[in-house]
Amino acid sequence: MGPEMIKPEDLPISSCQRCGACCRKGGPALHLEDRELVDQGKIPLASLYTLRKGELARDNIKGGLIRLSAEIVKIRSLPDAAICMYFNETDQSCDIYLHRPVECRILECWNTNPIEGMYARTRLSRYVLLEKVGWLAELVQAHEEKCALDRAEKLVQARIADDPAAADALNEIINYDFHLRQVAAEKGGLSPDIMDFLFGRPLAEVISRQFGVKVQRR
Ligand code: SF4
Ligand code: SF4
Repeated sequence: MGPEMIKPEDLPISSCQRCGACCRKGGPALHLEDRELVDQGKIPLASLYTLRKGELARDNIKGGLIRLSAEIVKIRSLPDAAICMYFNETDQSCDIYLHRPVECRILECWNTNPIEGMYARTRLSRYVLLEKVGWLAELVQAHEEKCALDRAEKLVQARIADDPAAADALNEIINYDFHLRQVAAEKGGLSPDIMDFLFGRPLAEVISRQFGVKVQRR
């Protein structure tokens, strides 16, 4: 039997082929190094969303889901697919290539050491980005205290155990989360597009997805 034929496409790569596979795994998380990009509007707040402490998130390095011990601010994905919103399918390019976040700049899919080195450290948070807008940071903090995922989980478990007070309290925080977004947009003059950055994804959605219970606003 002769030597096995190795085709060029089977060779391990050592530089980016611009195939876009990494961009099709969703938008990157932001780090402190990316703060200027946001401050200067190169990456607008409307293109971000927050995964709050306690939420389940995909671990892009080890795979699988992990429960977040601290919040992550990420670039949004397309509404119907886990593809970064800045990925341009037509020519397989990045719409913000010159201003792409640090995770995208250091990612080498053939060598995970650089991204592993920075993965969990120096993450950007809402509070850093809102440092100069104190009242908004306080609003975010108030929402976080009332609607923390740990608290929501305890209420879900108590509701499942038929505790009527827990059902009421759960309903209250779901309503609070819903109305705060409306009030912030209507009375605070904030764009509805930045609500998922300010308060994370709607609490009712997160609870349904993460704890497997159907919740309806009353
Ligand atoms: S880093 Fe790897 S997966 Fe991402 S575009 Fe380059 S070759 Fe493709
Ligand atoms: S910001 Fe650009 S390089 Fe980074 S994941 Fe999105 S499309 Fe890809």
